[in-house]
Amino acid sequence: MLTVVFHEGYLRRYPTGAVETPARARAVISKLKNHYPVVTPDPARKEDVLRAHEPEHLVRVQLEGMDVLEAAFLAAGGALCAARLALSGRTAFAAIRPPGHHAGRNRYGGFCFFNNMAVAIRSLLETGAVQSAAVVDIDMHRGDGTAEILGGDPRVQLVDMTLADGAQFVDRLMTRLALLPDVDVIGVSAGFDLHVQDWGNLLTNRDYHRIGRALGETARRKARGRLFALLEGGYTAHELGKAVLAFCRGLEGKEFPGAPPEGRP
Ligand SMILES: [Zn+2]
Repeated sequence: MLTVVFHEGYLRRYPTGAVETPARARAVISKLKNHYPVVTPDPARKEDVLRAHEPEHLVRVQLEGMDVLEAAFLAAGGALCAARLALSGRTAFAAIRPPGHHAGRNRYGGFCFFNNMAVAIRSLLETGAVQSAAVVDIDMHRGDGTAEILGGDPRVQLVDMTLADGAQFVDRLMTRLALLPDVDVIGVSAGFDLHVQDWGNLLTNRDYHRIGRALGETARRKARGRLFALLEGGYTAHELGKAVLAFCRGLEGKEFPGAPPEGRP
């Protein structure tokens, strides 16, 4: 069964963009907690964050204030927790904020402070827990920070979907996943801002279910079932919980939420 990573700290307010609200995390956890066990993570350690960022980067984030710094460490800790769960055979979804995929080695922006995915993947690689990894980014925006930190690493395959257009998004993703080599773990930067009721105005909850299903199948075929997903974008709180649940059900290979069990009329 899928496991959710969540901390009450993800519901705190801290100085950031007006749309990156605690309501986002609240919408996701209030849906997922009715379906899945929830694990509470510890904050990341400084040494974990320094695997992906320069020391000056931490100083600069600290200048944003302690609220921001604590939130950033807690989100990165959620990513590390989800990655470790994946290695123990439990598919994990981390309902974290702030998001991370725009944070580069020595810069931040786009509501991101630490690159949660890069911190998690680098930690797995540098502790020898895995030898290879794939990162699939389904957010509306390019994971430029992730590309900057992990892009030159031959152990990491990056699948960036932001060049896909229109209704072909899901088909393009499937083509890209079919081309992936076998890896030790798959991390998904799971942004939901391409939702029909969000900025991208493109993907339905059924599409997110198909995307989850394709990713889950790919993980079972090519990564011994080891997959974790981290919340990135997605700003329409009242739809975000439903979209994430549909995605998670897809990851598990289960039917769309609310649909009758397969095999029945
Ligand atoms: Zn985005």
